[in-house]
Amino acid sequence: MAKMYYEKDCDLKVLDGKKIAIIGYGSQGHAHALNLKDSGCNVCVGLREGSKRWAEAEKAGLAVKSVADAAKWGDIVMILINDEVQAEVYKRDIEPNLEEGNALAFAHGFNIRYQQIVPPKGVDVFMAAPKGPGHTVRSTYVAGKGVPCLVAVEQDATGKAYQVALAYIAGIGGARAGVMETTFHDETETDLFGEQTVLCGGVVDLMRCGFETLVEAGYEPENAYFECIHELKLIVDLINKGGIGMMNYSISDTAEFGEYVSGPRVIPHEETKARMRAVLSDIQDGTFAGKWIAENKNGRTFFNSKRAQLAKHQMEVVGAQLRKNMIWGDDQDMDTASN
Ligand code: NAD
Ligand code: MG
Repeated sequence: MAKMYYEKDCDLKVLDGKKIAIIGYGSQGHAHALNLKDSGCNVCVGLREGSKRWAEAEKAGLAVKSVADAAKWGDIVMILINDEVQAEVYKRDIEPNLEEGNALAFAHGFNIRYQQIVPPKGVDVFMAAPKGPGHTVRSTYVAGKGVPCLVAVEQDATGKAYQVALAYIAGIGGARAGVMETTFHDETETDLFGEQTVLCGGVVDLMRCGFETLVEAGYEPENAYFECIHELKLIVDLINKGGIGMMNYSISDTAEFGEYVSGPRVIPHEETKARMRAVLSDIQDGTFAGKWIAENKNGRTFFNSKRAQLAKHQMEVVGAQLRKNMIWGDDQDMDTASN
C-alpha cells in the first residue's frame, strides 16, 4: 500500500521565513505561485527578461525577477518551465545561484531521472507533483479543495526535505486531496507510460480509428465526431465519479453488452499489453528520453510535422466547427499558455 499524507501530516509553519522562487508562470507556475501566496508564503516568480507573463504575474500581486535573480533570492527554487528546456536554464541561471541548504523542487521527475540535471550535494531535491493540470490546481484551491499530489525526495541534504516538501504541497492545496509518497524514478516512468499508452497516445489513436472507420464507411463526419470524440468526456466523467460500474449502470444494457463483446476485439488484451510492455521498456532504459532530447536538439522536425498534420485531420476541423456553434462556444477556460 502506498503511504498517504493529508493536511494533518503537513505543517505549513515549516515554510515560515523561507523564500520560495517559482521559475515559470505557465500552467503549473501560476497555480503554485498564487496558491502559495494565498497560503501566506513569501513567493516570487522567476521569468525571462521580456516575458509576456511578467506583467500578468505582477498584476496578480506577485513579485517578479529574472530567473537568475529569483534563484538567488529563493531558499526553495521550484522549476516549472517546460521539461525540455529545464537543463539549459538550470545550468545557466539556477545552478550558479544555489546555496548549501537550499531546496531544488520539481513537478515532474524527467530531468532528474534521466540525469539532465545533476544538483550539487548540499541541496535538498524534492518533488511536489500535482496529478492534474495547473488551471485545476488553481481553481480547486480557490474552491477550498485541491488536486492530489505526489511527493518524493531524491536528496535529503538538510534532513528536513520531507517536511519542506509536505509543507509546500499543503501550501498549494494538494494535502486537502491527498499526497502519495513515491520516488523520482517511479513518478517519471509511470507518468510517461500513462500519457503515452492510455491518456494521450492511446485515447487519441482510439478516437481517431473510430472516427475514420465511421467516415470511411460513409457516415457523416459530424456524427462520427459526436460519437467517437465528443461523447468520450461524458463517459469518462462518469468513471471518474463512480468507477466503471457506475458508468455501466448509467449506460444502457445494450451498450454494456457491446462493451464486453467488442472491447476485447478492438483492444486484444495480450497483444496490447505486450506492446505496452515494449513502450514501458523504452521508458525504463532511456530510449524514449534519448529520442525526445535529440528531437529538441534537432529543431523538432518530426514533432512539428506531426502537429501540423493533426491540425488538418478531418476530426479536428469538424470538431472545431461544431464546438464553435455550441451555445456556450469554445471553452474560455482552456490552457492556451504558449512557450
Ligand atoms: P507550461 O508550458 O504551461 O509553462 C512553462 C512556463 O515556462 C511558461 O511560463 C514559459 O513561458 C516558461 N519558459 C519556457 N521556456 C523558458 C525559458 N527558457 N526560460 C524561462 N522560462 C521559460 O508548462 P507546465 O505544463 O506548467 O509544466 C511545468 C512543469 O510542471 C513541467 O515539469 C511539467 O512536467 C510539470 N507538470 C505539468 C502538469 C500539467 O498538467 N501541465 C502536471 C504536472 C506536472
Ligand atoms: Mg502547458
